[in-house]
Amino acid sequence: MLSVSGLTVDYGAVRAVEGVGFEVGTGEVVALLGANGAGKTTTLMAIAGLRRIASGEIAFEGRALAGLAPEEIVRLGIGVAPEGRRIFAGLSVAENLALAAAIVAPEAASERLEALLARFPILRERYRQRAGLLSGGEQQMLAVARALLPAPRLLMLDEPSLGLAPQMVDRIFDLIVELKSEGITVLLVEQNVARSLEVADRGVVLANGRVALAGPAAELRADDQVRAAYFAA
Ligand code: ATP
Repeated sequence: MLSVSGLTVDYGAVRAVEGVGFEVGTGEVVALLGANGAGKTTTLMAIAGLRRIASGEIAFEGRALAGLAPEEIVRLGIGVAPEGRRIFAGLSVAENLALAAAIVAPEAASERLEALLARFPILRERYRQRAGLLSGGEQQMLAVARALLPAPRLLMLDEPSLGLAPQMVDRIFDLIVELKSEGITVLLVEQNVARSLEVADRGVVLANGRVALAGPAAELRADDQVRAAYFAA
């Protein structure tokens, strides 16, 4: 479904990602892992069209994404819930969702919105409240709901569990499993490696902007290098 090859991204003179390649198959959950600064967020941002790529190719369902604007990439079926949630704190939950609904055909928008409010009842309860007043977990639900509004076939989540209370972390990982069962493909960036590899089919480990290791989640869970880096007591 998604094919990334030779992806290289620079921030000025700093090369953040170099020659990264991986595939995400339809219906899979793929975890993109690695230490702080490994290039995970940069990779997601490049796929979403939010970061210019220096070289390499990104194709979604056979279509090259190079040069497309972020809205066009959303329209093709890729949603992103970015790191730090990036919701509009001063706007209400309703207004945040309305902004995302703007690219959805008006006939479909109200039905999609209703389905999302049924999935995330807390957002219905807080519908008229300012998004900045929501808890971290509720804000994350809003960020995910916003990304789901245009009915993406591929959902990219950047550190969705970061800073959340344990119960909310459980909710996020349950949600990923739910979305997968509904046929949504997920590319997940997470620092919670153990939980990610429980829900993922495959994992790709980045180190210093390159792919260090990739394989089935079960294999990565058993891998000595991964265990040493992430599961050491
Ligand atoms: P984290 O978990 O800390 O977000 P990450 O794996 O997502 O890490 P990136 O955020 O993609 O990593 O960063 C990759 C590299 O690019 C790092 O060396 C980082 O310092 C650098 N970098 C990221 N954003 C910028 C920026 N806006 N300007 C300059 N360098 C940046």
